[in-house]
Amino acid sequence: MIARAFLRFTKRAPVIDTDTDLAAAGGLLTVDLDAVAANYGMLRAEAAGAEVAAVVKANAYGLGMGPVARRLADEGCGTFFVADANEGAALRALLADVLPDAGIYVLNGLFPGAAGFYADHGLAPCLASLAEAAEWRAAAGDGSLPAALHFDTGMNRLGMNEGDAAALAAEGALTEGIDVRLIMSHLACSDEAGNPMNARQLTRFKALREGLAKRFPKARASLANSGGIYLGKDYHFDLVRPGVSLYGGSPFTGRANPFRPAVTVEARVLAVREMGPEETAGYGATWAAGRPARLAVLAAGYADGYMRALSAPRNPGDNSGYENGGQVRIAGYTAPVAGRVSMDMLIVDVSGLPEGAVKRGDMAELIGPHITVDEVGLKAGTLGYEILTSMGNRYMRVYLSGGGRV
Ligand SMILES: *Cc1c(COP(=O)(O)O)cnc(C)c1O
Repeated sequence: MIARAFLRFTKRAPVIDTDTDLAAAGGLLTVDLDAVAANYGMLRAEAAGAEVAAVVKANAYGLGMGPVARRLADEGCGTFFVADANEGAALRALLADVLPDAGIYVLNGLFPGAAGFYADHGLAPCLASLAEAAEWRAAAGDGSLPAALHFDTGMNRLGMNEGDAAALAAEGALTEGIDVRLIMSHLACSDEAGNPMNARQLTRFKALREGLAKRFPKARASLANSGGIYLGKDYHFDLVRPGVSLYGGSPFTGRANPFRPAVTVEARVLAVREMGPEETAGYGATWAAGRPARLAVLAAGYADGYMRALSAPRNPGDNSGYENGGQVRIAGYTAPVAGRVSMDMLIVDVSGLPEGAVKRGDMAELIGPHITVDEVGLKAGTLGYEILTSMGNRYMRVYLSGGGRV
């Protein structure tokens, strides 16, 4: 495994900064930027003809916005989407030396009283109401400020409606001073190719776009997130907005994930212990083997995003055994979680492994080439997106590029 090779290779080298040390790290989060680049390339091929922007909100889904955005800029990505303006300002600074004129759109729209901040950092809000448009127009004064117009086509989350679109089409004054670069909407069910909601939203989006074409002849159109890109050419328009697929997570339900995993999370083995047949392990004494057991205690818990829902059993008296619990890869074997996941630790049952296979100080894979982020999500009763964005700040982070560490 990449990260383990790195561990040997850099035993003495100072890592990341002077206050942290690999030998002292409880967990290691390795981000493979080459995999992110490869995924970006796949999306480009799939959406050929459209610009492929990158959604880097929530710290690039937990992978780290700076290294991810800079690598994508290297790959030719010129447009980015964040959730709020503070993320946008951080991204603007992170790209200042490599891509100073990157397009940065703020998905959550314009917050009251914040227009000056957006303008100072060169951020384009995805305007989701006529009130937001009015505030942005006021901030533009006699000049011009860039924006997207965000329309709702059925998800009922953010966006203007058909009535707003008609008003915008009829009255140029509503967008005077606004350089409308993008007309966008968002799909609710793009993970399911067979869901009729997709076609309904597509129809509504096309009609909105046609109604606004005269007023905003230069505006481009954008509908698809990762899943939307795979619904076919009709969904691509001028610009697509993938997020999770760049990071190796699956944007699909019930279909194989073609993307390269970009994240490996490993936790250190703190102790290996033997447990008697009458004993229990972990908080709540919920786990009993009824036989002698060998346990490995790992240095990651729910504070690191290894969710408590991955406990086995999940509830006392639950007889599902290991069914719903997490699994880790350790010493070349798969081992199940035993008992409740604690804040900083978890216990796994390594009784099935050869004696001596696991030692104190070893690293166990929680997410990576053997245990996909989507499998972990499924076990935790959620999805890969939430597992990625929950990874926590305690891991030592390592970025790989061109086969080496950066
Ligand atoms: C998060 C988000 C995306 C990216 O979605 P993925 O499913 O991660 O590709 C695109 N557009 C909007 C509006 C979003 O909120």
